[in-house]
Formats: sequence, C-alpha cells, structure tokens
Amino acid sequence: MVSRVIPVDTFDLTIFGGTGDLARRKILPGLYRRYRAGQMPEGSRIVGAARSDMDTDTYRAEVREALREFIQPAKLDRDDVEGFLGCLHYVAIDATGEKGWQELRELMRPDRVRAFYFSVAPALFGAIAERLHHHRIADADSRIVVEKPFGRDLASAQELNRTLAEHFDETQIYRIDHYLGKETVQNLMALRFGNVLFEPLWNSQYVDHIQITVSETVGVGGRGGYYDKSGAMRDMVQNHLMQLLCLIAMEPPSQFEPDAVRDEKLKVIRALDPVRPDDIVRGQYEAGGNVPSYQDDVEDPDTRTESFIAMKIHVSNWRWAGTPFYIRTGKRLRARQSEIAVVFKDAPHSIFGAEAGRHRNILTIRLQPNEGMTLVTTIKEPGLGGMRLIDVPLDMTFADALGAENEVTDAYERLVMDVIRGNQTLFMRGDEVEAAWGWTDPIIQSWSVRDDRPFRYEPGSSGPEESSMLLHRETRRWREIRE
Ligand code: NAP
Repeated sequence: MVSRVIPVDTFDLTIFGGTGDLARRKILPGLYRRYRAGQMPEGSRIVGAARSDMDTDTYRAEVREALREFIQPAKLDRDDVEGFLGCLHYVAIDATGEKGWQELRELMRPDRVRAFYFSVAPALFGAIAERLHHHRIADADSRIVVEKPFGRDLASAQELNRTLAEHFDETQIYRIDHYLGKETVQNLMALRFGNVLFEPLWNSQYVDHIQITVSETVGVGGRGGYYDKSGAMRDMVQNHLMQLLCLIAMEPPSQFEPDAVRDEKLKVIRALDPVRPDDIVRGQYEAGGNVPSYQDDVEDPDTRTESFIAMKIHVSNWRWAGTPFYIRTGKRLRARQSEIAVVFKDAPHSIFGAEAGRHRNILTIRLQPNEGMTLVTTIKEPGLGGMRLIDVPLDMTFADALGAENEVTDAYERLVMDVIRGNQTLFMRGDEVEAAWGWTDPIIQSWSVRDDRPFRYEPGSSGPEESSMLLHRETRRWREIRE
C-alpha cells in the first residue's frame, strides 16, 4: 500500500522565527519530508524571517545542518536536500520595527497561496499581524498560523483573539495544536464515525469510564523558567488533553468539515462541569538517581507549580452522564506514553459464575509509542477443567498493519499542508480556545485561594500515590504506565 499524496497549490510560506527551535526541529524538517514526497509544487517558496543578519546562502547552510540533525540519514538524499534548500529564502526582519518588511513584500508573488507561520513568542503576534497588514503583504486570502501558548488565561486569550481579528478573519487564522495532527488522533474520528461497531456502545450505558494519559520521562530541563509560570494544567491540559477529550466525547458531526467538527468539540467543552477540589491531584517530582527535583530545575524552593496533574472530569450531557473521564499528565514519569483507554462496563450478567472472574473490554488508542489500537476481549482460557476466562488483546499497530512505506507522518507536516490547502478542520477555533480557558481559569484560581501545594512523587514512578486514590476510592484503577 503506498500513501497517496494530494497535491496542493503553489505557495509562499513565510516562517517568522525561521531560525528558532521549533522551525529547526519540526517545521522545516516536516516541509523537507513533504518536498521529498512530491507534495511541494514547483515554484513554491519558504521564507525564513528573523532578526539575525544573514543572507539566503547562510540560512540554507543552517537549515542543511538542521536537516542533518532531525532527519534520519537514510532519508537525506543529496538531490532532495539541495532541491529543498533551493526553495528557501531569508529575510532579516524585526517584528517590532521597520527593518525587512519592504524586502518581504517584494518577495511575495501574485497567484500563490500566501501563508505566514508565527513561530515566535506570542507577545510578537500583534506586531507581526499589524505589519503584514500595514505593508500590504497579507491579502484577504492569506493564512496565518499561530502556536501555543494561546494565552495563559481567558483574558489574555481573548486579547490575543481580538488582536488577530483586527487584521485577519477567523477563516484565515490557524491555531495549531499539534496533537490534532497526529495520525492516531485523526484515526479516533475514523474509528468512531467510519465504523458501525463502536458508536452504539459509545455512551454511559456501556462505557464505565475513560482514561487519558500523556506521560513524559523528561523533566522541565532548560525550559524551567517558562514551565514554572504555566505548569501541567496550562501547558498540557487546557490544550492537548482537552482536544483529545473533545474528540472522544463529541457527537458525530454532520460532515467532516471544519465548522461542523469544531462546533461539536465546543459543545463538549461547554458541557464540562466545574471540577471539585477532591477530584484533582497535583504533583511535583522529587530528586532521584542523578536527576534534580522540580524545585531545583526551576530554581525556586517554594514553587507551587505542578509538573503532574490528574483529574476526574464530568461531561454533563445525555451521552456521558455518569461516565467519568480521568485524565493525567506529568513529567519524569516511568515511561513516555500517550494513550486513551475506553473501559467498557462488565457484562450485565455472568453466566460463567464467580470462577470465571471479572472481565472487561478495553479499547486503547495509542498515540505513542507504537501508534495503534488494542481491543481487549474476553475469551475462554484454553485447556480442560471448567470455564475460566482470560483477557486477550486484539492488537493493531499502524506500522505492521499498513506497511513500512506508509510511515506515520509527523503532526506538523500534516498540519502545515492543511494550512496550504485551506482546511481548518484540525485547527482550534477562537471560541474553542476561549471556552477551554473559561473552564480552566477557575480551577487554577482556586489553587491560590486555597494555598494548594502539590504532592511529591518519585521520578520514574506513575505520579503521586494520591493520584491512584482518585480511582481506587471508586474501585477503579489507572492503567499501568509501562516502560
Ligand atoms: P526560539 O527558539 O526562541 O525562537 C524564536 C525565533 O523568533 C527565533 O528565530 C528568533 O530569531 C525570532 N525572533 C525573536 N524576536 C524576534 C523579533 N523581534 N522579530 C523577528 N524575529 C524574532 O523559540 P521556539 O522554541 O522556536 O518557539 C517559537 C514559538 O513556538 C513560541 O511561541 C513557542 O512557545 C512555540 N512553541 C514552541 C515549541 C518548541 O518545541 N520549540 C513547541 C510548541 C510551541 P532572532 O533572535 O534572530 O530574531
């Protein structure tokens, strides 16, 4: 099976922050892979823009280094690399000054899709939007791409939305949450709405509860200063985990179209109950082995910011009344693992008696590692001697099922191509972001009012013990975070 490459129109993509970490690690390698796949039409151009003074040749040399660092050697074909670098240009520009804007304007050509990736600090979004407009570089068909963090609370998100709306229509704004670009996440929609099998069971009558886990093994590392001002709630829950929850919980949209999908996600966020303090566990990793504690990492012995959070969430609507969603995410945990588990209820009546034990169907959607799905089903344990039941996984890993040539595309490359195509389905709409902050804000505020202190947890563990209690007290348990 060979993946089908859908052509896009010829484009001029400007990356503000074209020398930064995100551009080097994700955006440019992703574009290179699209070039290699034959999806970058001839004549398309990528313009790197940042303050540093350098010419296009120097920029190309820098990007060559970035490709060497972030692309597997087997995929660094010399002709492809040179061909791709030939599409690159560089403009030294100051987002907050006048330098470079005229030059950028002169580079723009008519009859090309024009896209501008704001891969810079959010404080610069307004200045860039203003100058793109003022210098008539952006037109009514141009697209802008903005990165998280999209605000740090409702007020700042509203302010950002207002700033962008001064110069761009909502249909031109692409707010990236790279989780939505992950192949498995999109597969969640295919699984639910492309099959007849699961949807009749996808409700509180059959689903006992749902678990979403996004665990990391790394600490905050060099990002301590930034991270300590946000914490797991702002950095992961308000955006990534919330998006995953929406895709699991939403009603079927009438069509797979941007506003139809985003309307349904928004309804889920609006149906979220406020979370009770007892249903939240926050944690901070301790020192262990040769790794420092969270406090040491952020150089603040009194910090109250969480590097781990677990919560029980209720979606108050007809479909989900009575089925809790448990979510958890954290740093310095046992393994790097992202998964969604739909835990179905027990069979209503066991004809096999107590000896058969208690068994449950669990559908697990793995985002990483080994993107794929597993459905745990109950079968008879082979052998003589009564009727004993065991659980066995029906396992599907994309790489095995679809063949190596269908390698899973990186989220960024998929999303950047969607921008060029003008497809906003996998991007967050302004009202979604605001609704998510509207739900998150009171929770965060309550921590400072109650002087809430995170629990400690050992590095390499599954988080604080109190997180297990969140489920134990309801005779449930977290799925294991496995190495
Ligand atoms: P970074 O490594 O600090 O890069 C910032 C880029 O912006 C550099 O190219 C810098 O180049 C340029 N820049 C700074 N001030 C400028 C100005 N006044 N005018 C024009 N260019 C300017 O940051 P990053 O990690 O790439 O992150 C970029 C954005 O993506 C941030 O909003 C970040 O929160 C978000 N993000 C990053 C990641 C990631 O993995 N890195 C993940 C998710 C979201 P000069 O200094 O030469 O101007």
